[in-house]
Amino acid sequence: MDGKIKRRRLGRTELMVTELSFGAMNLRLLKSFDEARTIVNHVLDQGVNLIDTARAYKGEIATGVILESEQVVGEVVRSRPCLDEPLVLVTKGHAYTIPALEQDLAESLKTLGISGRGTLKLGPQEVRLIYLVHGISQERWATVKASGVLDRLQELKRDGVISHIGFSSHYPFAAQIKEAIDSGVFDVAELPYNIFNRSLGEDGPLDLLAYAHRQDIGLINMKAFNGNGMVPIYQVMREHIPIDYPAMLRFCLSNPAIATVDAGVRVPAEFDLDRQAAQAEPLPAAEREALKAEADKIAGLMKNVCRECMHCQEKFSCPHQIDFPRILSLYARYRFMTRQGKDTADLARQYRLLVPNGDDCVACGECMPWCEYRLDIPMLLKEAHQVLSKP
Ligand code: SF4
Ligand code: SF4
Repeated sequence: MDGKIKRRRLGRTELMVTELSFGAMNLRLLKSFDEARTIVNHVLDQGVNLIDTARAYKGEIATGVILESEQVVGEVVRSRPCLDEPLVLVTKGHAYTIPALEQDLAESLKTLGISGRGTLKLGPQEVRLIYLVHGISQERWATVKASGVLDRLQELKRDGVISHIGFSSHYPFAAQIKEAIDSGVFDVAELPYNIFNRSLGEDGPLDLLAYAHRQDIGLINMKAFNGNGMVPIYQVMREHIPIDYPAMLRFCLSNPAIATVDAGVRVPAEFDLDRQAAQAEPLPAAEREALKAEADKIAGLMKNVCRECMHCQEKFSCPHQIDFPRILSLYARYRFMTRQGKDTADLARQYRLLVPNGDDCVACGECMPWCEYRLDIPMLLKEAHQVLSKP
């Protein structure tokens, strides 16, 4: 493919990053380490210079086999020849107290294989490490502010253990995002934004993306495609509105506040498509508005929908062994397909194979604080059972 991926300035870090970056979260959804290494090598071959991972991005890819995305990223970067510039690595921890921060950061450095102070090395490769406080919510932000974590992060940056400090957060936490921006501590923010949900951007009471950009915070755009679980839904949706993946990506890239869109591709061909889209002409303003109008026709259907982002599973599992993300995603597809008059028998068949199922939920609510979208999980499980348990 001709031409390099364009670069944008990542706010006050002064790093020039490729506007298409690689989100390593989905490595845990692949079937083997080889597949994971192949995709990381591919994006690096294409010139991507920012990889976004997290301590918690790990999953069981086969019985008893855990794939940690930090491990794969570290291994691949170490195995490659030196680039003529530092590679930008982003990782995140559920680091809301100082002991949790020390432990998570130490584990991240070890798993990635990063050594040194000031000049950080990963094997032969010089890297810049951006450390994010993962998934700031109301409760977590209150803990972070009271625990001394912000001071400790600044010490770690001064000591050269990390290069820059950031945070990630999600749609329901606009007030905490604004406070985090105003704290002056963070160089980088990773936030969700896409054509169907612009609530942290131009549709919010305050355009937080533009606000962060004005404070010179480098913005990493996650969820440009609205989450893993949306893939089968979009296949149905495409029959009704003219919005495809390239259009979604070009929409995000047309927002000047965004430095890079973090694409969680799973195979090289997906990345190549994203790259083609990123290299197309910038989206003209009129086309951007037309896409928004199309998206708004179905945006209501995207509310109260599980995205299979799996963030809830990073540190939690239901004490009653209910695979609630699986049930909620089947239900999301059911709702969407029913509205489009599609056959949902296969979804019901898949649901009936699940033991335990939504009817076994005791509505203890323990899962709810872990959902990044603050879904009413017990209620949705009940609704799902009502419609999907019928033969
Ligand atoms: S509310 Fe239901 S799904 Fe959630 S933790 Fe409790 S039993 Fe599990
Ligand atoms: S329940 Fe919430 S956090 Fe869990 S996968 Fe669904 S949307 Fe993501």
